[in-house]
Amino acid sequence: MRERIGILCSGGDAPGMNAAIRAVVRTALYLGYEPIGIYRGYEGLIAGQLEPLGAGSVSGIIQRGGAILGAGRSPRFHSPEGRAQAYIHLKTHHITRLVVIGGDGTFRGAQTFLEEYPDLQILGLPGTIDNDLYGTDATIGFDTAVNIAVEAIDRLRDTAAAMGRLFLVEVMGRDAGFIALHTAAASGAEAVLVPETPTDFDAIVSVLERGWQRQKTSAIIVVAEGDEAGNIVQIAAELQKRFTQYDIRTTVLGHIQRGGNPTAQDRILASLLGMQAVYRLHEGASGAMVGIQKNEIVLTPFYKAVKMHGALNPLLLKLVEILSL
Ligand code: ADP
Repeated sequence: MRERIGILCSGGDAPGMNAAIRAVVRTALYLGYEPIGIYRGYEGLIAGQLEPLGAGSVSGIIQRGGAILGAGRSPRFHSPEGRAQAYIHLKTHHITRLVVIGGDGTFRGAQTFLEEYPDLQILGLPGTIDNDLYGTDATIGFDTAVNIAVEAIDRLRDTAAAMGRLFLVEVMGRDAGFIALHTAAASGAEAVLVPETPTDFDAIVSVLERGWQRQKTSAIIVVAEGDEAGNIVQIAAELQKRFTQYDIRTTVLGHIQRGGNPTAQDRILASLLGMQAVYRLHEGASGAMVGIQKNEIVLTPFYKAVKMHGALNPLLLKLVEILSL
């Protein structure tokens, strides 16, 4: 019997997860393993929802958003009993190697699972639009989420300019400002509010005043959902109090950023990391996230990837500030 490699997607879905599944399945086959798909993340593992995946079962999915295996949360995996059940299913199906695609929660789960069952071998792939994992320059889905947000803002800019409005646009990112910062830089936003830096309303108002004086017809401010100054409605109210010239509108992009076809960059990243995860499992690696840093594949132990936080690029913060002139 061929040795088996299991694959699952967990936590929130991210565009590019399918490209990663395809890469894991085909590389596993290439190296002589039998790939087994596990549905709905850890929950499917506990429920025994597993099935072999052939090369054809991942045909035509590299361009599709979502995740053919499903993703999602599993409260049961937080308990030792749930994990014991998951382990029994792996053993029954003769699977000792696993690739888990997800974010920090997924890796925390994998770490605990490995501590209890050290005979398993698990590697993680960074699958989250938030880009908030330490140990990789980019996560799978981040580029697509940014591109969707930029496209939406390009549209809002048209109507903002026609109507002389200030739009506050909330983007996703949980407690990280990566999507907000990159979106602001790419869409030429007047300002960006991120949780990593304190929100300075006086500075924002002076940017708006400067623009108003040189007859700017519109303004766009990108707000990260986790900004410490409050939610977008509270921020809009505060700004409207301080700056009355623009009519202010708010738009929350929400889950739109998680759907749609992954960009070429995300497809390549997912494919490369997926392929590498299987190779590294084959070589005996375990307990780490497979990421990319400066074009090199880097393995970061789970405990590090979840504890530490990637840092925003200070040059991009400066860029938004200077170019908003
Ligand atoms: P993400 O991986 O996107 O951060 P979650 O935080 O929802 O998403 O985590 C995904 C799943 O990982 C959870 O539903 C749970 O099953 C599992 N998990 C998260 N943290 C732990 C933990 N400390 N112990 C065991 N399992 C965990």
